[in-house]
Amino acid sequence: MAWDFSTDPEFQRKLDWAEVFVEEKVVPLEALFPDLEFQPLTPERRRIVDPLKQEVRDHGLWAPHLDPELGGQGFGAVKLTLINEILGRAGTWASVVFGTMAPDTGNAEILARFGTPEQKDRYLEPLLSGEIFSCFSMTEPQGGADPRVFTTRAVRAGDEWVINGLKYFSSNVSTASFLIVMALTDPDVPVQKGTSMFLVPRETEGIVIEENHQIYGHAPGAAGHGLVRYTDVRVPLDAMLGDPGNGFGVAQSRLAGGRIHHAMRAIGYCRRLLDMAAERALSRKTAPGVLADKQFVQGFLADSYTELLQFRMAVLYTAWIIETQGGDAARKEIAALKIATPKLVTDAVHRTIQLHGGLGLTAELPLARMWTSGMTLGLADGPTEVHKVNLAKALLRDYKAVEGLWPSEMRSNRLAEAHALYGDLLD
Ligand SMILES: Cc1cc2nc3c(=O)[nH]c(=O)nc-3n(C[C@H](O)[C@H](O)[C@H](O)COP(=O)(O)OP(=O)(O)OC[C@H]3O[C@@H](n4cnc5c(N)ncnc54)[C@H](O)[C@@H]3O)c2cc1C
Repeated sequence: MAWDFSTDPEFQRKLDWAEVFVEEKVVPLEALFPDLEFQPLTPERRRIVDPLKQEVRDHGLWAPHLDPELGGQGFGAVKLTLINEILGRAGTWASVVFGTMAPDTGNAEILARFGTPEQKDRYLEPLLSGEIFSCFSMTEPQGGADPRVFTTRAVRAGDEWVINGLKYFSSNVSTASFLIVMALTDPDVPVQKGTSMFLVPRETEGIVIEENHQIYGHAPGAAGHGLVRYTDVRVPLDAMLGDPGNGFGVAQSRLAGGRIHHAMRAIGYCRRLLDMAAERALSRKTAPGVLADKQFVQGFLADSYTELLQFRMAVLYTAWIIETQGGDAARKEIAALKIATPKLVTDAVHRTIQLHGGLGLTAELPLARMWTSGMTLGLADGPTEVHKVNLAKALLRDYKAVEGLWPSEMRSNRLAEAHALYGDLLD
């Protein structure tokens, strides 16, 4: 019997340290440097952030999602869940301090897996240590959810690829050192087989950021999401990451990991929301008593806790499948978590705002901003609806239609089966 929900004491000590460290030293960065996570460190920020990163390294927790050959810890998915739920409480600065920043984490995985030695030498180490940023440029302004509408082209010209097109929601392009760009290389085959991925240094001629949009509520100085025009952007042949036509395979290799990491962090995020809700319920006076005495409020707290508990178990179970059987074996579970995460977060935020009254909507609390984060989780890395469609298709592959008019659970069918089995023994 190998089911076990305990954490080994040595690792638990690391988690205990991380919990206190994040709460005491990392959470304050959010108030001090809002939305500056993807901006290069100024001398002032470096004075604070570099020693924190060093502390994380000294405690053997740097880049916990990566294998040791990439400078990570090789913890496996279950331990990573336990770490990520701590980091999830503290927002993006915790990812900076622990070396787990998206989209750089996924881009580093692509680079490590598909990059040339020269590309790795130039970008991988500084990316992993958080010294440079990167951008994943796939979505186009005419549509992001359905790649069949993508038109950005890469055409081979001698010993170069020439890229032309317009991309949207290219996060952090304003501070990125390189971009990973998806482009059609063979328009005569279905898009899933005719698209390739390219590594493009940011300084390459022909890249123009036409606009840079911010998610509502983010500071104007945030790195933002770019509308990027590529005009005759020339890169060498070895800029192609992976095989020609395998752009989606390359993209998938980063997105699957990213989706489960979001789910892991959402646990901590929702725990923070529950903590805020409980504190307010106990503190806010009504006549008579406090909010916590009201049954609706008790219902809010109980619902947030119950949903969080179910979700946490589902994430840990999925992590266990990934660890014991590999990521492919957990495809359905990862899709289910991608679908569940935005609802978990937005429902928890909604209750917590409601409980805080008007104050909950002001910029003095992080709640309204946390609501947009919940909504973001339902769009970034593909909208919830697309994941539902794909999950349903995957589920249906394990079923077949019943022969005849009636469902197999029909009483007459079940009775006939029972008679066939036990008929001889019946009176
Ligand atoms: C904060 C944030 C960061 C992002 N970062 C990046 C990034 O770094 N790089 C990048 O390339 N992209 C990025 N994106 C873009 C993201 O991947 C797209 O927003 C997403 O794929 C949806 O595309 P869209 O916004 O164009 O919506 P649309 O494609 O217009 O879809 C709108 C809605 O239509 C429905 N829909 C559309 N097509 C289908 C379908 N086939 N089946 C079922 N329903 C459908 C869904 O409900 C969907 O939400 C980011 C998005 C956000 C919000």
